[in-house]
Amino acid sequence: MVNPTVMEIRKLSQDVASRIAAGEVIERPASVAKELIDNSVDAGARDIRIEVRQGGRRLIRVIDDGNGIPQDEVEMAFERYATSKLRALEELSEISTLGFRGEALPSIAAVSQATVVTRAQGEEVGTLLRLDGGRVVHCEPRGTAQGTVVTVENLFYNTPARLKFMRSITTEARHISELVTCYAMAYPGLRVSLVSDGRTVFQSGGSGNLYDVLVEVYGLDTAQRLLEIQDRSADDSPVTVAGFVSDPLLHRSNTRNVTILVNRRIVRDRLISYAIREAYHGLLPKGRHPIVVLSVELPSGDVDVNVHPAKSEVRFRDTGMVFSAVQKAVRQTLSRRAPVPGDSASFGWERVIEARQRRLVDAGHHPSARLGGLALEVQRTARLLPPAEEAPERDKLPMLRVLGQLGLTYIIAEGPTGMYLIDQHAAHERVLYEHLQSQRGRSAVVSQTLVEPMTIEPGPRLPAIDEERLAKLRDLGFDLEHFGARTYLVRSVPAILQTSELAQSILDIIEEAERADGVRPWEEEITIGLACHGATRAGQALAVEQMRELILALEQTSLPRTCPHGRPTMLHVSAEQLEREFGRR
Ligand code: ADP
Ligand code: MG
Repeated sequence: MVNPTVMEIRKLSQDVASRIAAGEVIERPASVAKELIDNSVDAGARDIRIEVRQGGRRLIRVIDDGNGIPQDEVEMAFERYATSKLRALEELSEISTLGFRGEALPSIAAVSQATVVTRAQGEEVGTLLRLDGGRVVHCEPRGTAQGTVVTVENLFYNTPARLKFMRSITTEARHISELVTCYAMAYPGLRVSLVSDGRTVFQSGGSGNLYDVLVEVYGLDTAQRLLEIQDRSADDSPVTVAGFVSDPLLHRSNTRNVTILVNRRIVRDRLISYAIREAYHGLLPKGRHPIVVLSVELPSGDVDVNVHPAKSEVRFRDTGMVFSAVQKAVRQTLSRRAPVPGDSASFGWERVIEARQRRLVDAGHHPSARLGGLALEVQRTARLLPPAEEAPERDKLPMLRVLGQLGLTYIIAEGPTGMYLIDQHAAHERVLYEHLQSQRGRSAVVSQTLVEPMTIEPGPRLPAIDEERLAKLRDLGFDLEHFGARTYLVRSVPAILQTSELAQSILDIIEEAERADGVRPWEEEITIGLACHGATRAGQALAVEQMRELILALEQTSLPRTCPHGRPTMLHVSAEQLEREFGRR
């Protein structure tokens, strides 16, 4: 056995401490690029050029035309916690710059050989400053254009542990190019370019229009298949959601094409990623991911940006609000154009894309690209995102004729383009859910008084129902009150809850809501549960008249093709597919 070496407590030398601290901010070459680009954006640059050699391992250089650093502040900028962006802690909740911690330049300099050449607005000469492992080795006045050039060479040369963890040149180069394209999408008004080992690998035009950047990043073919998010949330909603999402027939094997911006900050956010996933639920094949550029804006007081030194995470004051805003905006965008799952690709997309182009042409703006003889319109504005187009017709179901019931579970129907199999439970769930939602919206949930009040007893598997939850249940049509320690008296229930097992259903609904992951608001989970428990079950025989009624009601819903859990309500087998399967062509 090895004796543990006992050492006295001693303060780390400045040198060691700063290299350790740098590790929190600078993980790999792309982190250097990120911090430097942040600084250029904060400096008001219009043009940012990034040069790298060997995936940034040899060299990373960021050149901007921003404000520059005044001569007498250049050395100070490389000191720890030196920043021009924040004075007092209270300002943090109002922060509008990307940086504020004053840690990036000193961290970068501590683990590399760095050079800055800069000239501030209004100054005659600029400055050249060179550092090695954080120590200033050279400083002189230097004539140069207004703006800043930071060059970082031999990253991690003095931290062998980190050096070992660097990945291959191609991997590091990929991280950097993903990062640069993210900035181009986050700031469509910036001209951003990336030169890797002497070759220009990306360049954005800085038109101010996100769609133009999407064409530059993904190519015209893919960009055309991205749907613009139309946020239908109320005008007074503090959260706005904008951007583009891919149609469900366009997907990728990884999540790298999901770009999330919160108040224009590129972040990784589990909540928003989850909201996006939920919105696509039932629309994408397993293990596939959409292409998304999603920008969430909310008052700066509602989001904490100071969660981590690398500033790539944020925390929201009201997670439920952000989750539902994102999920709703994406879902609505998809629902207007999504084909029935299982449809052949020819069913709708060509038509949708064509219609979209035609609308743009009809709008009569200056064309910026041509495709197949059709002028493709792109509106040019200085906004982050182009204004929403005219809302297309909602993706209504076609007229369906009921043919019968299959296995006491599915309704078989015929439509103009083929056969439909409708899951009676899922379809009914969708109908009830939207009824309830609209009743909730009008604070007019229809409830039904029980002939005889009954008691329910949540038992040990459930927490007691607190006053807040009782009030929420009341809004949903339940009249519940305490009746002894763990017993509740039920006087009335929402009218849609038609079931012979009433007490058990209520307990199940509450339990399912408790067990949910807490991303959706609790009352939303209850609503979904109510729709599920109120809906007709599989195995129940339905008369033709009942089936007709159900399908008519389904046609009236806003998202007829999925149940509230996100599973499909129907499968469509096109006439074309039938022909093919039967070898008729
Ligand atoms: P922070 O961005 O958190 O303030 P940094 O260490 O990244 O901290 O930068 C320190 C300071 O140096 C900034 O506050 C800013 O005043 C100045 N600075 C850094 N990069 C640039 C740049 N590209 N253009 C102008 N000023 C810069
Ligand atoms: Mg910074």
